[in-house]
Amino acid sequence: MTAAEGPVGTVPVPAGPFVHREAVATAGGTVHVAWSGVAAGNLGLHVVADEDAAGRRAVGEARRGLERAMGVPEGSTLYLDQVHSADAVWADGPGWGEEAGPTADAAVSRDGGRTLAVMVADCLPVVLVDEATGATAVAHAGRRGLLDGVLEATVDRLLSLRPAERRDAPGLRAWIGPGVCGRCYEVPEQMRAEAAERVPATAATTAWGTPGLDLPAGAVAILRGRGADVAVVQACTLEDERLFSHRRAPGQGRFAGLVWRADEDASTPTGAA
Ligand SMILES: [Zn+2]
Repeated sequence: MTAAEGPVGTVPVPAGPFVHREAVATAGGTVHVAWSGVAAGNLGLHVVADEDAAGRRAVGEARRGLERAMGVPEGSTLYLDQVHSADAVWADGPGWGEEAGPTADAAVSRDGGRTLAVMVADCLPVVLVDEATGATAVAHAGRRGLLDGVLEATVDRLLSLRPAERRDAPGLRAWIGPGVCGRCYEVPEQMRAEAAERVPATAATTAWGTPGLDLPAGAVAILRGRGADVAVVQACTLEDERLFSHRRAPGQGRFAGLVWRADEDASTPTGAA
């Protein structure tokens, strides 16, 4: 359960499909940020073989189950075709129930009205909310995306929704969801050196004394550098079996970082249109 040093302590463990969940008041209404776990099922179609009909059906069932838990319409969540890029897109297209999502590694909902998901199993599922505008975003930040600037691209897009003179004002919040921690993520010495050149905070040493990368610490440094108020969900995918981990169990599944807006009094499947 160790992770990067962050401003948030150990988080409570709620029951149900989420390993962590918070509600946030914004100019556009209350939004919810959360991270699913193994209990919610595998959400990634890309880790299921094309011929595995039962496995693909199970992904649909898991996604719909999560949507019922969130109180949003089934099939309405935007899932991305994630490729370890630094590309962020506007969340304009239909939900997964209608068509596969765009190829990108971050999405921004201008008014926070879209339900956004980002899938991971060791990479960081980062969720952002701009309290000043009500806009929301998710980003998939693995080693490559983080070093290539996916978080900066996401923040830039979010803040472009503010009037120019308000870009530096407070209200931008970010959560670093569960990923592999710096004590568990071993990399070659050369890779650590290259990463540290770009984002010094990523340089780490594993629990067994070899070169490592601390992606949560790197993400905190990048996001604080952009003026965000950053919280870290303290859970390591490799150590915590409530979460999927590609390194611990390759191909087993993906969990998600999520952000959505749902009326407090309409948290039933039929109530949140
Ligand atoms: Zn760890």
